[in-house]
Amino acid sequence: MPARFLNGVAIRDQIYDELRQEIAALSAAGVRPGLAAVLVGDDPASQIYVRSKIAACEQLGLGSWQLTPPATSTTGEMLALVAGLNARDEVDGILVQLPLPPQVDTKRVLEAVDPAKDVDGFHPVNLGRLVSGRAGLVACTPAGCMEILRRSGIPIEGANAVVVGRSDIVGKPMALLLMHANATVTICHSKTRDLPGVVRRADIVIAAIGRAAMIEPDWVRPGAAVIDVGINRITDAAEAQRLFANYPAKLAQFREKGAVLVGDVHPSVSEVAGAITPVPGGVGPLTIAMLMSNTVKAARLRRGHTAANMGSFTGAVSAKR
Ligand code: NAP
Repeated sequence: MPARFLNGVAIRDQIYDELRQEIAALSAAGVRPGLAAVLVGDDPASQIYVRSKIAACEQLGLGSWQLTPPATSTTGEMLALVAGLNARDEVDGILVQLPLPPQVDTKRVLEAVDPAKDVDGFHPVNLGRLVSGRAGLVACTPAGCMEILRRSGIPIEGANAVVVGRSDIVGKPMALLLMHANATVTICHSKTRDLPGVVRRADIVIAAIGRAAMIEPDWVRPGAAVIDVGINRITDAAEAQRLFANYPAKLAQFREKGAVLVGDVHPSVSEVAGAITPVPGGVGPLTIAMLMSNTVKAARLRRGHTAANMGSFTGAVSAKR
């Protein structure tokens, strides 16, 4: 039986509706949450990402500022810029779009962001809070994956969860979130022995690898829930034909645009899995939704508004906030 598709756009819209209520309650208390996005240089992909994040702020009525230092910026200049944003009270969230130019010390810049404004959840203080299970700002993509699982009614407690990928921004925080939700978690990486055998034992598979269609249908236990974090652009006609032989609409899209997106999971896994996120339209929309959610949360925490003292607050996002 084909899998249930987990619609990230619908889940994002649900979260936006809840955030609007929270934003209205903050507004009634004289608070307008705001996000500052720092875009260094003119990388086209980064420009698209930042544009969509600013657009989301505008859609929800959040304040937003875009700062565009030149590609020649030094570490010192970036540190000064971040210090300036840390000091501005109306800025609740600071987002430094990666990658930074090679001459900039990325770690130093990210660690300079005030942890209370670290809406990407990359600061060691927030990572430490996550490790110890304390409320903080959690990395957006893994937090979004948890929202998909919870809001789709996928049982997490007691489930065997396999996370393929151990990056600081996806795999590691993902594994911690699943563990705190009482899953039994296995973390896999490029040195894992018998990866297909390990994945086959999973009730929940999280693929965050960065390799097109790597998880094959016979790696997945029938009925498992599969969250595909990967976003890979296919521009080779033979590869598109091989991956999407049974998906004429995708092939038509490739012929029209010369490119098509595929996740880290083979499209035919949808014939085996019980539930699966599509690419695009699965995890992607949740990453931005969780950035918005973190900005609102940062505003609430920085200004001493708790869920309890906000009256109409309905508890927007189900992750620990
Ligand atoms: P990353 O930093 O490159 O990490 C990739 C991980 O996959 C590493 O831990 C690596 O293992 C592991 N890996 C690579 N090849 C493997 C193999 N053959 N077998 C097993 N494991 C392997 O990537 P990332 O930043 O986590 O991103 C992963 C994917 O998610 C990318 O496609 C990215 O575009 C996508 N992404 C999507 C969103 C979204 O909003 N949807 C957000 C962020 C990222 P080692 O540690 O051993 O090298």
